[in-house]
Amino acid sequence: MTGPVIYGRVALIGLGLIASSMAHAMRAGGLAGEIVGYAKSPETRAVARGLFCDRVTDTAAEAVAGADLVVLCVPVGAMGAIAAEIGPHLKPGAVVTDVGSVKQAVVDVVAPHLPPGVHFIPGHPLAGTEYSGPRSGFATLFQNRWWLLTPLDGTDPAEIARLRHLLEAMGANVDEMDVARHDLVLAVVSHTPHLIAYTMVGVADHMRRVSSQEVIKYSASGFRDFTRIAASDPTMWRDVFLTNKDAVLDVLGRFAEELFSLQRAIRMGDGDQLHAYFTRTREIRRGIIEAGQDTAAPDFGRAPVQPKEG
Ligand code: NAP
Repeated sequence: MTGPVIYGRVALIGLGLIASSMAHAMRAGGLAGEIVGYAKSPETRAVARGLFCDRVTDTAAEAVAGADLVVLCVPVGAMGAIAAEIGPHLKPGAVVTDVGSVKQAVVDVVAPHLPPGVHFIPGHPLAGTEYSGPRSGFATLFQNRWWLLTPLDGTDPAEIARLRHLLEAMGANVDEMDVARHDLVLAVVSHTPHLIAYTMVGVADHMRRVSSQEVIKYSASGFRDFTRIAASDPTMWRDVFLTNKDAVLDVLGRFAEELFSLQRAIRMGDGDQLHAYFTRTREIRRGIIEAGQDTAAPDFGRAPVQPKEG
């Protein structure tokens, strides 16, 4: 399938799961004239050159030269240094966006390095898998997934509309949100759940009485989903917690209160409280399925995605 080119030259900085998925989706839809890429390691650059980039450069500065759209696809902790490097090399009128899972921290470290005349539109696709790296991407990753944009005051609406057009052409549903709101919402729906998954897998590991064999053998229950989430990239998630600290600590405080309340209900044998609580949470799950954000299939619609060869 080919369509009208939306950006003549797109530069992807960082060439892992998100960037490679974007490249596959843009290529499938004929949405970019040329896709240029840069990543830290020569190994990743070599894979990207063969798999999904038209051109790969040895520096981020070279990659962004002449680009109409620059997408920062590196871990949140690396965004500032990249912005400092590319700032002087951006084409006047270029759009810079990012895909970082935290928004305020990215705005704080990226915006100061961008020259006047460059449009900065921070963004975040709510899509991912537990795989990472340049072989893990696939064209349909963003299909029917939210992509949140958090434009700053005064951003040219025509440039926001053009970026929206690209993201929608890749299959995403686009919404706009205030930066602080984004970080709080994501702390609730993504960041804290990841922390809980990491913790639960850590707890199982510490319980030496439960042999690892048994944990794996019986993991068809809820634990399996925890292990999948807890396999997510350590660098990315370290950066998420370090940069969305306030919102995550706020949500964790509330989580601890609820947990203690349920703990007390179990200790006191208060079945009514437990039943009422679980009835309410079941309704939330139904709401997620009705909103089209998941399926009721036994594997939650997540047939394992295999990293691509190439
Ligand atoms: P990934 O697969 O681990 O890829 C990260 C890429 O960034 C790699 O190509 C890596 O290069 C490159 N990189 C790291 N540090 C760099 C630096 N200093 N300079 C240049 N390149 C550097 O990560 P991802 O899952 O695509 O995540 C990328 C961004 O998307 C993160 O900000 C994350 O918060 C966000 N995000 C992720 C998900 C998800 O579920 N994975 C979802 C939404 C948003 P090398 O390979 O050479 O090390």
